[in-house]
Amino acid sequence: MAELNHDRSRQLFDEASELMPGGVSSPVRAFISVGDHPFFVAGGQGPFITDVDGNEYIDWVQSWGALLLGHAHPAVVDAVTRAAARGTSFGTPAELEVELARLVIEMVPNVDRVRFVSSGTEAGMTALRLARAATGRDKIVKFAGCYHGHSDALLAQAGSGVLTLGIPGSPGVTEGTAQDTIVVPYNDLVAVKAALDAWPDQVAAIVVEPVAANMGLVVPHDGYLEGLRSLADEFGALLVFDEVITGFRLGPGGAQERFGVRADLVMLGKILGGGLPVAAVAGPAELMDQLAPVGSVYQAGTLSGNPLAMAAGVASLRAIKEDATLYHRIQERARSLVRGLVDVADIAEVPMVATAIGGLAGFFFAEDEVVDLDGANASDADMYAHFFRGMLDRGIYLPPSRYEALFVSATHEEEHVERTVKAAHDVLTA
Ligand SMILES: *Cc1c(COP(=O)(O)O)cnc(C)c1O
Repeated sequence: MAELNHDRSRQLFDEASELMPGGVSSPVRAFISVGDHPFFVAGGQGPFITDVDGNEYIDWVQSWGALLLGHAHPAVVDAVTRAAARGTSFGTPAELEVELARLVIEMVPNVDRVRFVSSGTEAGMTALRLARAATGRDKIVKFAGCYHGHSDALLAQAGSGVLTLGIPGSPGVTEGTAQDTIVVPYNDLVAVKAALDAWPDQVAAIVVEPVAANMGLVVPHDGYLEGLRSLADEFGALLVFDEVITGFRLGPGGAQERFGVRADLVMLGKILGGGLPVAAVAGPAELMDQLAPVGSVYQAGTLSGNPLAMAAGVASLRAIKEDATLYHRIQERARSLVRGLVDVADIAEVPMVATAIGGLAGFFFAEDEVVDLDGANASDADMYAHFFRGMLDRGIYLPPSRYEALFVSATHEEEHVERTVKAAHDVLTA
């Protein structure tokens, strides 16, 4: 198949690369790990995205999961447009914040209070500060391959080794900060217990993506989240669920509801803002009221609770609540997508493992089921890059990294799954 014309995107990328580091505002967008140049987007509608050269793609990225309702959902566009006409920012309380907070508290279990911020990174910073203040402890346990935004304390990824002290995951993160971050493998309760034993009375919080979606898609073993809950209780640490992806995606109440496991604090983002910059920390009153101005844990934001962002969030959550079959549909779609991909890989005799949960789908070019970062790292990167480029040429936009999940929106139909599987067949059997 002939390659699509990307002349205008190439030209813009050349210009952008002179003006911004790597030509992008966020690194994965540069398509480096898939050996390609990024396309520049012109717009999106439902499950489709169009680039500046006029190519249309079925979009399985959906703004990295922020768009459960697809691109340019009419109710969201209308709400944002009307809010914009009334003024875009005031730095004062507004009614829309009350509405969005009420929706969150109604939908997400174990939440009495919500603090809105503008990004998942901020939500992570705030959750940590709160957990440290509430417990009077410094250290946190996180999991290799889980992403919680780019704040210093949460960047540590540290290599393998159950009790590896966090080494800086990035130059610029001080050793002092990294030392407070203990990194253990995902899906391994023994490693968590060992870390808690090794630093008794020092761990403020266990921070986890209840379904890991930033090392590809990795689901928790049966009993894993329950095990984290018991360990947190046993050792007096807080359990923080980073539901920036899973929130409103696994179901209206996210992972807490889906797995029946309570978190002490929840980080929300992505879908919460319906494509505008909104995230939040949420939890019970006794914890949340330690935040200023009630308590002394400081956190603030000029654009927090921004009316455009709140309007998009309210419109999205309302639309989600009103669509009784939405979660069933996206789950079926995600399942049928991974079934189709695995079938095609079988035919092509290419090793692939795949999984789907809620509106999340993921696959690795690997022989064995992937349960942690080591497994994800062992998958075939070159094959993924080849597959990504072949799919893009056929009008299918997959995540430009094997470490990301595929996001199903309410606007993806079976027909889009079929076109995707057909393209996969052509790429893998070519
Ligand atoms: C995207 C993401 C974040 C960070 O959110 P930003 O808004 O990009 O700062 C945090 N946690 C998880 C699980 C995410 O997927």
